Amino acid sequence: MIELDGVSKVYPGGVTALDSVSLGIATGEMVAIVGPSGSGKSTMLHVIGTLDRPTSGRVHIDGHDLAGLSDRQVSALRTYRIGFVFQQFHLAAGVPAVDNVADGLLYAGVPLRKRRRHARTALERVGLAHRLDHRPHQLSGGEKQRVAIARAVVGEPALLLADEPTGNLDSASGAAVMSVLRDLHDTGTTVVVITHDRDIAGALPRQVHMRDGKVVP
Ligand code: ADP
Repeated sequence: MIELDGVSKVYPGGVTALDSVSLGIATGEMVAIVGPSGSGKSTMLHVIGTLDRPTSGRVHIDGHDLAGLSDRQVSALRTYRIGFVFQQFHLAAGVPAVDNVADGLLYAGVPLRKRRRHARTALERVGLAHRLDHRPHQLSGGEKQRVAIARAVVGEPALLLADEPTGNLDSASGAAVMSVLRDLHDTGTTVVVITHDRDIAGALPRQVHMRDGKVVP
């Protein structure tokens, strides 16, 4: 699903955020990316998620060599095959949960009724069938993150990337969010999670450790 080969990312100003990283993640894996702040975790997730192109090295995602794709093809790959979850939820304020999730299908050109139907199914999947019409301010932090996960997976992406998904949550809500991510992994989605939390990382099947822009053993 993911193949990085000698990938480096140097930001303007000269910070080397990724230093010749090689890493393979197979379809269906669930992987924790761990390491100190500034070690390059988010940069790596952005490169894997096609949000950012590397300075050098090769990136293969879902069978595609990104260097061989146009910007339009890369953005189609991202839209249809990759879901994102962030620490800050990024839900639209004042918008019911079902429509926050339905918006995850806007780019796919799916009509509203069908988007809402898929959104209800996605919210059921994350245990929020009883919160369809709640606005974000009426939801707990853990519920907001589960809505964000439902939005990320409503289009059934092959790959789900999560950047500190439990970073703003108490440990019980964080555990519920991780349980939802594990369920997605169990149904075949490849899941990559950045986390600072050693317990969360340790509970996942595989850990990738980063330091100073490198993957370390
Ligand atoms: P982590 O997610 O492990 O905290 P990051 O990937 O965010 O690490 O950052 C790696 C390094 O790259 C840090 O030194 C950071 O300051 C730098 N960096 C990250 N994003 C940018 C950017 N847009 N411009 C310049 N430097 C950046």
